[in-house]
Amino acid sequence: MVYKAEYIWIDGTEPTARLRSKTKIVKDSVSHDDLPIWGFDGSSTNQAPGDNSDCVLKPVAVFPDPIRGGDDVLVLCEVLLIDMTPHPTNSRAKAAAIAEKYAADECWFGIEQEYTFFKDGRPLGFPVGGFPAPQGFYYCGVGADEVFGREVVEAHLEACIEAGIEISGINAEVMPGQWEFQVGPLGTVEVGDHLWVARWLLYRIAEEFGISATVDPKPVKGDWNGAGCHTNFSTKAMREGYDAIIAACEALGTRADEHVKAYGADIEHRLTGAHETAPWTEYSYGVSNRGASVRIPWQVAVDKKGYIEDRRPNANMDPYVVCGMITDTICGAAAS
Ligand code: ADP
Ligand code: MN
Ligand code: MN
Ligand code: MN
Repeated sequence: MVYKAEYIWIDGTEPTARLRSKTKIVKDSVSHDDLPIWGFDGSSTNQAPGDNSDCVLKPVAVFPDPIRGGDDVLVLCEVLLIDMTPHPTNSRAKAAAIAEKYAADECWFGIEQEYTFFKDGRPLGFPVGGFPAPQGFYYCGVGADEVFGREVVEAHLEACIEAGIEISGINAEVMPGQWEFQVGPLGTVEVGDHLWVARWLLYRIAEEFGISATVDPKPVKGDWNGAGCHTNFSTKAMREGYDAIIAACEALGTRADEHVKAYGADIEHRLTGAHETAPWTEYSYGVSNRGASVRIPWQVAVDKKGYIEDRRPNANMDPYVVCGMITDTICGAAAS
């Protein structure tokens, strides 16, 4: 007998990479830990020229497939060149090297993925040719006048749990059709693995409803919230004492420009200083402050230990890039 393995990878689309996948039929005698490398046409994914198009898929994380069920699996892959070195678009390999360097710091990440549903060319819940009532009641709302797409969100949550994704919650967001799920806490690389597969499941599940989901950071211009990926972070030292919390906030300030540039395309349109953001040109941190770049949750200020929230990353960020950079900046500063 055979089972189906959905090989999932991150492509080379610029400025924001997209997810791709295809199905491999595998003999039952091959265990899930032993799935073979595979290939694809990199000239169709902006990862290779047409006259030298082969790229390699190397399985790195396997999850039960909640859509197909049975023995079928979702197989997250890294992209390699045919000499088996990481492809230039392979941000996971870079994050893995940083994670290994600072393994002793025991980094944890929790990511809040915001996203927006679209149907018929407009956000779900937006009327034809116009706008819904202004923001105010949609965030964590209830009722058919305030909440749009809950059936998709519930199906996605269930699928994530069945797949073994470390999903930690969901909520309706500030704009109609906008939602959030949280993944973590997990390590620097693992949180990226789980987030990318959770994104794939979101697109795939929404497909069943004839709805698309987007991580566009500013899906509606004007007085509507953008979509972010708040990234919560701690090291063992931060979970044990407040000095390390402050040191982490200070460290992020030393490389603020570099971070913002790596936090997702079009970030300057989201980090305007309005809509619960800090302007992308200025770095700040503060307790409970949702208008700061980095927030220290009030409970953390009370307990004098815990984690910090980097509020800057865009919804379209690459978690391998963001979490790798945060690990490097904060653990690097602590080591020096
Ligand atoms: P917000 O109040 O900003 O909306 P959420 O509840 O949506 O916060 O998300 C908080 C995130 O922080 C979750 O993903 C959770 O897993 C994560 N988190 C909690 N504790 C830690 C920690 N010590 N280190 C890193 N992340 C953490
Ligand atoms: Mn949240
Ligand atoms: Mn949110
Ligand atoms: Mn948040």
